[in-house]
Amino acid sequence: MRAELITVGTELLTGQIVNTNAQYLAEKMAEIGVDVYFQTAVGDNRDRLLSVLELAKDRSQLVILCGGLGPTEDDLTKQTLAEFLGRDLIADPDAMAKLDHFFASRPTYHRTPNNDRQAELVAGSRPLPNRTGLAVGGLVEQGGVTYVVLPGPPSELKPMVQEQLLPFLSDGQRLYSRVLRFIGIGESQLVTVLADLIANQTDPTIAPYAKTGEVTLRLSTKSSRQELADAAFDQLEATILAHEGLADCLYGYGEDNSLAAVVVNLLKERQLTLTAAESLTGGLLQATLTEQAGSSAIFKGGFVTYSLEQKAQMLGISPELLRQHGTVSAVAAEAMAEQSRRLTGSDLGVALTGVAGPVELEGQSVGTVYLGLATEHGVISHKLTIGDRGRQHIRQIAVLHALNLVRQAICSDKTMV
Ligand code: ATP
Ligand code: MG
Repeated sequence: MRAELITVGTELLTGQIVNTNAQYLAEKMAEIGVDVYFQTAVGDNRDRLLSVLELAKDRSQLVILCGGLGPTEDDLTKQTLAEFLGRDLIADPDAMAKLDHFFASRPTYHRTPNNDRQAELVAGSRPLPNRTGLAVGGLVEQGGVTYVVLPGPPSELKPMVQEQLLPFLSDGQRLYSRVLRFIGIGESQLVTVLADLIANQTDPTIAPYAKTGEVTLRLSTKSSRQELADAAFDQLEATILAHEGLADCLYGYGEDNSLAAVVVNLLKERQLTLTAAESLTGGLLQATLTEQAGSSAIFKGGFVTYSLEQKAQMLGISPELLRQHGTVSAVAAEAMAEQSRRLTGSDLGVALTGVAGPVELEGQSVGTVYLGLATEHGVISHKLTIGDRGRQHIRQIAVLHALNLVRQAICSDKTMV
């Protein structure tokens, strides 16, 4: 289905508000496989809105208008749509009853004839009740085009879309989704690897989304039952993971999940403890771990060793060794990991040392990071070259890679089970 969005409001054009409704609606449509081909923001102006509707009716099957349903003079979306379709505006009894109740329970509020507009709909509309506000939304079909009218305030729009519009557009079926979370692969790389699949896949749909240091893929399908949706997701997930290298990068599932949560859970399940010695991240990894509820089971304490002296003193590493190889080196990372593990009696010790910038250090460029990981089997190190997008970004990416190193070690090592 070809759809377009028309967001109405002069404030959008003058930059007073950010058009978050357009972003929200576009994302929701993508999730249910509705193709949005055009987005227009238009001011509170009858003539210009009419001209946009004129274009929309010939190129789209679904036209979603949002904003301008309120009681004030500049709110003219429904009136203009009614004029465009040659229909009347009529009061929706339920919305009018809600308005009556609203004013009856607030005697100090002054009701004007304008308020009644909020309860009106283009004749022939299916009403979309407003659970969190007074302006009723609606859905009307004419000439093979479905027009949807939604309120502007996001607190009203979102529940209406989620609870009413999406189920309606999904033909009475429910929308199901599964989110796959990847680490260690960039969005463009993932999209390139899956280009054919993404281009040709229609059900379930695949929507990639990049966050700091990680990428998610949202698989969505309309279905009458969870089990049917799961079967479709299982099949598509297997096809995705059959692409080389992707299975290793999949670290978890779900919208509200995180790499730190997955690592803490893995450690808990296997009854392992983790410690850290951190230089450039200044404790960020330990803070990230301890943000997780129940982290005390897997984390006893660790080290923040910023200077060479403290790396030597707190961790008992030879200062000569650090001077000889540099504090930003594989040798330093390995020694930090090993010593932190030994001194705290933890099962795993992870270390981060590197250059957060803005200037290079010991001849190493900004974004160079060495990770160390010590386990009962020995110690390994791993060099990262993170693009220079600021100190905070480098530190966050370094922490994610360190957590991923821990995850991979636990998952690949059967003896740690
Ligand atoms: P109201 O009943 O509050 O007048 P309305 O349906 O008439 O709502 P508008 O008057 O267009 O909607 O906008 C009301 C408020 O809703 C705006 O001030 C803004 O806070 C928010 N809003 C409107 N459109 C958008 C949008 N596209 N993106 C984000 N917020 C929006
Ligand atoms: Mg308004």
